[in-house]
Amino acid sequence: MKIAVSACLLGEKIRFDGGHKHDRFITEELSRFAEFVPFCPEHLAFGTPRPSIRLLRLENQIYVHSNKDDTDLTERLIQTSRDELSKIAHTPLSGIIFKSKSPSCGMKSAKTYLDNGFCEGKEDGIFASMCRERYPLLPMEEEGRLQDAWLRENFVMQLFAYDAYEQFKASFPTVGDLVRFHTCHKFLLQAKDEQLYRELGNIVANRDALKDETLLAMYELGFKTAISRKSSIKRTRNVLEHMAGFFKNDLTKSEKEILHEQINDFTDKIIPLIVPLSTIALYAQKYDIRYLLDQTFLNPYPKTLALRSHIDAGK
Ligand code: SF4
Repeated sequence: MKIAVSACLLGEKIRFDGGHKHDRFITEELSRFAEFVPFCPEHLAFGTPRPSIRLLRLENQIYVHSNKDDTDLTERLIQTSRDELSKIAHTPLSGIIFKSKSPSCGMKSAKTYLDNGFCEGKEDGIFASMCRERYPLLPMEEEGRLQDAWLRENFVMQLFAYDAYEQFKASFPTVGDLVRFHTCHKFLLQAKDEQLYRELGNIVANRDALKDETLLAMYELGFKTAISRKSSIKRTRNVLEHMAGFFKNDLTKSEKEILHEQINDFTDKIIPLIVPLSTIALYAQKYDIRYLLDQTFLNPYPKTLALRSHIDAGK
């Protein structure tokens, strides 16, 4: 999979002061499963090192001004942001990771100032705003927010699910293939958004006998929207209970009690999600329940990322 990343996060010495903001999770963990496409609209516009810039709000319009001499640099940065956008648009991306707080790359974290020098709020940076408009359904996050275990787990799950859909789409799927794809993703979708999960089930059932292209387009929109939602402990618990129901005639009373205790302990944030999930995976293997073993919810991304081993990964 390919992910566009702010070049300074990859360790490139490209910031205004000639420094970088190397992020080890990106270069040491995600790099094992993704190729990166770097971008830096400010380096392209002004070179490195360069005077720092700020976002200025004047009459409800956002401008870019130099902190050194207050020159208006708006047009120049917009042009190089467009250039970087067309560069990354040549690559089939599965996501973008931005540097937080930057006037170019921040996602709702770039400070905006008034003419009198006071900070008045936070906005998307110039480049991040263009990316949002160009790719409304593409997974996007800032490295700052990815320090939070819950946001990190949600984002990585979204990246891999998005990439899975893109690969599925590239295989010229039939409606039968769509049914199989949906079946494998049922529990993952249910953990994200119960309502969308049901709507996607109705789309796949195709009671209105829609054309294949229409059906796939509707499914894609619903699927990509659902995976962008954040999972919650409550919804995840429902999914775990649902999965546990598959063994109700196979487990002994004490085995059932242990599994339910693990689910309760996960809900109470005493143990991480990986514990009840491993027990469910074990019983699914033991009783050869193919439907469960095929669920992407059990393995939504490579297990070595170990993102479900943190108690804080659930909220
Ligand atoms: S413009 Fe973006 S990529 Fe370039 S240094 Fe600033 S935050 Fe990093």
